[in-house]
Amino acid sequence: MDSYSFSAISSFKKCPKSFEYKYIKKIHEAFFSIESYMGTSVHEILRWAYEQKQKNIELQIDDINNQYKHFWDKGSLWKVKVIKSDKSIGDYFDQGLELLTSYFQRVFCFDKSVSLHLEHKFEILLDNDIKYKGIIDRVSKTQDKVIRIIDFKTGKVSHPLETLQLPSYALYVFEQNVDDKIELAFEDLKEKREVVVPFLREDTKRVKLNLIEEITRIKNTDTFKAKPSILCMWCGYNNICENPHDSVKKVVENRDLFNSEDEYEKCCPRCGGILKERKGKFGKFIGCSNYPECKYTRKEW
Ligand code: SF4
Repeated sequence: MDSYSFSAISSFKKCPKSFEYKYIKKIHEAFFSIESYMGTSVHEILRWAYEQKQKNIELQIDDINNQYKHFWDKGSLWKVKVIKSDKSIGDYFDQGLELLTSYFQRVFCFDKSVSLHLEHKFEILLDNDIKYKGIIDRVSKTQDKVIRIIDFKTGKVSHPLETLQLPSYALYVFEQNVDDKIELAFEDLKEKREVVVPFLREDTKRVKLNLIEEITRIKNTDTFKAKPSILCMWCGYNNICENPHDSVKKVVENRDLFNSEDEYEKCCPRCGGILKERKGKFGKFIGCSNYPECKYTRKEW
């Protein structure tokens, strides 16, 4: 590997086998979980919304909703899998919309900070031969001139200092010659709260050593063992893994795992229902068979 990231280190810790599939053998996952699809959609809309703010374009909640619907429908939903049997694609669509609506009304409208970076890719040298890279959701400057490194979270949130994610991003930000005052923040969209902690330049030394230690452990590994757990249900390699958790073996079929883009074309991207050709006042159109509960329509197949 040329360069390591926080995601790669976390993947290795969760299951060395899935790390090998993804980062060494570079195999594409057979599916994405609906949770990650929803998270990516929400992130994309937040990036877009803050970009509009940078351009002094004032947004209304309808703009956010429309952009989210547009992004959701044009994504690779056909590769998405719903793992929890009591949930549908529509439930996750609604959940994402709710998270965005709440964030917009609670934080975005009142946010006077300036965006310095949005979805910002970086790479730094940790040691002579170890490169480290990442993508920071947002770096802002508050009205008190404090630099804040922000990660938007749509799932479970820990403390910003509990993992190396935000502290490792701080290594890069400090390298940009910023003042010594930085804050690390998780925007917890689900629990509707911000978890913010100060971070000092002197703390970066320890973070760098920890990262080097973690990466050296990976570099010295030659056998990547499978680590089966209930998380195997969410693993995009569970179709090729020789030793997945028993829960994977029990699932014979999942109605939300589409085998091809053609098959996906027949499924409603909002609720997972069946799309049908229908006739209206203005001629033929494609609509969801779950109407009136689901009002998804489009002009043609
Ligand atoms: S199915 Fe489970 S054990 Fe196999 S690679 Fe994925 S996470 Fe690891």
